[in-house]
Amino acid sequence: MAREDYLTGLLNRRAFTEHAIGEVANAIRYKRPISLLLFDLDHFKDINDHHGHSVGDMVLKEVARISKEVCRNGELVCRYGGEEFVVLLHATEAKHAEQFSTRLHSALKEICIETNNERIQVTASFGLICINHAESTKVSPELIVDKLLAQADNMMYQAKKSGRDGIKTIEMNLSQL
Ligand code: GH3
Ligand code: MG
Ligand code: MG
Repeated sequence: MAREDYLTGLLNRRAFTEHAIGEVANAIRYKRPISLLLFDLDHFKDINDHHGHSVGDMVLKEVARISKEVCRNGELVCRYGGEEFVVLLHATEAKHAEQFSTRLHSALKEICIETNNERIQVTASFGLICINHAESTKVSPELIVDKLLAQADNMMYQAKKSGRDGIKTIEMNLSQL
């Protein structure tokens, strides 16, 4: 089974989920914080429509490259779907997860791809869920990963609704998920 996304070389959804389940289990075992960041490129369809699908692909590759660069401390970074990416921040509480998200958000805004004398720039909407205290729980790590993704997606949607190009964060305990 391929573990990498064919276009960007990032982890694919399946590989990410497997790793994330292990990280969540460790967070609970060692009572460490854990955060999950999901981001979706804004109006990406317009880039495809105006510049063509292959330019869209170039943008996705560049987003992946920059994300990997910002995630060089060992954070798991994944292409979760079309123009949607996920980063798992192990042992990272809200304060640092927010700093990391701001750094990635800014780095993506710096992307500038030139084609036919036009400059393409991108923004993304971010959803961040932070578990500051991973207390022991009967809920399985698999289900927790699902719930973290759902919460992050929810927050990303809030960021879209409030004008895109921003970060929405929620802090929770495991029991509140
Ligand atoms: P929003 O800000 O609401 O997220 O708008 P959006 O246009 O980014 O979202 P929408 O879901 O309408 O469009 C996503 C687009 O991403 C449509 C799809 O064709 C494109 N896409 C998905 N996967 C790929 C890919 O691998 N390559 C390219 N070039 N485009 C892709
Ligand atoms: Mg999307
Ligand atoms: Mg989008």
